[in-house]
Amino acid sequence: MVIAGGGLGGLACALALARKGFRSIVLEQAQQFGEIGAGIQLAPNAWHAIDALGVGALVKKEAVFIERLLLMDGASGETVIDVPLDKRFARRFGNPYAVTHRADIHGSLLDGCKAQALVELRAGTRVIDYRIEDKGVVVETSGGDLPASALVGADGVRSVVRERIVGDGEPPASGHMCYRAVLKVEEMPRDLRWPAATLWAAKNTHIVHYPLRGWKLFNLVATVVREQSGSGHNEEAPPEEVLPLFAHNCEKPMSILRVPRAFRRWMLRFREPVENWTQGPVTLLGDSAHLMLQYLAQGAAMALEDALCLAACADQQEGNFEKAFLEYQKTRLVRASRVQVSARLMGMVFHASGVERMIRNDIYQGRTAERYYDALDWLFTPPEYVRDFAKRAPGRSPRPSARRKGASSARAPRKGSPAPGVRPARRPPSRRTASRGRKAPPARRARAP
Ligand SMILES: Cc1cc2nc3c(=O)[nH]c(=O)nc-3n(C[C@H](O)[C@H](O)[C@H](O)COP(=O)(O)OP(=O)(O)OC[C@H]3O[C@@H](n4cnc5c(N)ncnc54)[C@H](O)[C@@H]3O)c2cc1C
Repeated sequence: MVIAGGGLGGLACALALARKGFRSIVLEQAQQFGEIGAGIQLAPNAWHAIDALGVGALVKKEAVFIERLLLMDGASGETVIDVPLDKRFARRFGNPYAVTHRADIHGSLLDGCKAQALVELRAGTRVIDYRIEDKGVVVETSGGDLPASALVGADGVRSVVRERIVGDGEPPASGHMCYRAVLKVEEMPRDLRWPAATLWAAKNTHIVHYPLRGWKLFNLVATVVREQSGSGHNEEAPPEEVLPLFAHNCEKPMSILRVPRAFRRWMLRFREPVENWTQGPVTLLGDSAHLMLQYLAQGAAMALEDALCLAACADQQEGNFEKAFLEYQKTRLVRASRVQVSARLMGMVFHASGVERMIRNDIYQGRTAERYYDALDWLFTPPEYVRDFAKRAPGRSPRPSARRKGASSARAPRKGSPAPGVRPARRPPSRRTASRGRKAPPARRARAP
């Protein structure tokens, strides 16, 4: 199996597949595997997935377990939503809510992959196209053709794999521009060093901040909706560009915005859900499948859930990836699309003004913790295939004939190296991988077909 893209989704997919006994090659276009320097919120459903991938303890080392989710009225400064993230929360959802640095979760997944003999990581290799052939797929890359039993497009916002399957072009600019910065804790105004993920909502803007890396840093993201949207992809933006756009906010959030000497500008992109992500032995995962606005802080969580679901389906279908991908899509489509649509609607709640703002505040203010938890239940409760992923030993399918079919449908191995996607049944890792000093896979992974 080849995975296009070594972001959070691609690495999680490789790791999940390895834990079910499947070999994969992750192709990353960048010269190095890495993530941007910013924060990320991880809800309980994301933690369940991270734990199932076996990297929970690593990610938790640097994560900050915040105490509340706050939505403040950016104009008046009053509290609108206050969700306690205490023991009741962790009991209800089986895991806490935490925030972390992207590099920390990406680095942990990368280490997890490096420790797996079944995962090969290739940086500096761009997927350009693919051809479906009789027994699999030929992945066309900047380094030449690569035959494989299947291809997963985890290649993000501008996915070339999606372009072949869905063909809906570049995702349109949403008109939502975000400005990011990371502050040292001592730069953060003292009265705003809250143990919370805080969102200041105001007319067509919102500002988010939360602590990072054991309270050494604060993540700051300020978003504005504008008709005249412009563009941007991690470009530098000076405070003179940013501050006037948020000037209708009250003093507290503005006092944070005045700290950074420079921001990074990002034009957010968004796609409408589509009904199909799959073409034979090729499918999509993460942002390439269901690109969403970040307003529920769930894009990465969805990519992680996708990864576990895909690997569980591959396992259930005994390596018949065409069947597995259809099953995966069927299982994931409604949930991921619901999050995609709900995130966009949440933006309208954040950016409300006039009477709508008054209605919003009236709806949410004064709710009990349990009412918030009930409202969040569909989102934060992990699906069964995530919750039970680690409990199910690989290859529990009661259909040996299907297993044989799956293995034989993989492409013939090239000389000296096993075909991607073929389980390493009864054979040790190839000399090429073994010579890199990776750990041998645990015995349970080397299953006989
Ligand atoms: C401002 C902001 C805040 C966010 N906050 C949160 C949050 O708090 N919580 C949360 O869960 N989510 C959040 N998200 C969403 C989250 O970042 C994404 O959903 C997630 O990173 C998607 O992962 P991915 O692996 O699908 O895609 P990506 O992370 O985009 O990875 C794709 C990878 O593929 C590579 N690639 C692309 N094309 C090719 C090619 N042709 N060949 C080879 N490699 C290729 C890229 O270089 C990249 O490494 C946020 C997003 C934004 C914009």
